[in-house]
Amino acid sequence: MKHEEMSALKPDGTLYPFQANVAELKEKLDPLSYKVLREAGTEPAFTGEYTNTETEGVYSCKVCSQELFRSEAKFHSGCGWPSFYQPTEGDAVVLIDDRSFGMVRTEARCANCGSHLGHVFKGEGYGTPTDERWCINSVSLRLEAKR
Ligand SMILES: [Zn+2]
Repeated sequence: MKHEEMSALKPDGTLYPFQANVAELKEKLDPLSYKVLREAGTEPAFTGEYTNTETEGVYSCKVCSQELFRSEAKFHSGCGWPSFYQPTEGDAVVLIDDRSFGMVRTEARCANCGSHLGHVFKGEGYGTPTDERWCINSVSLRLEAKR
């Protein structure tokens, strides 16, 4: 498990627009959310609040409130985490090569604050429009239901 703090820099070397205050975040977030969002942790499979949620609405970053995903792109992957086939906007999320655990995976971070969201997997044959599975931790997100 990696425990270094999230980088303040995007892969292109520019600062994330929203710089989180670590002390404030530790107050605001529960320990699991903090560990996932700021230490690139993973919530245990099949435990997340939004794993099977079908509520229509918008999923935003729990740290900075930027919109990240919409319920229209959510699908049931059976993998144990909320799964989306695309983010709400291509530039809402940044992708980073993650070489931890001896694997090469694509990590997804919030493009506004740099917080860890989850990983992206391609070509698994889920039959979604993009053939991608954005495997996102529930604790990284906050759902606002459509009214
Ligand atoms: Zn964010």
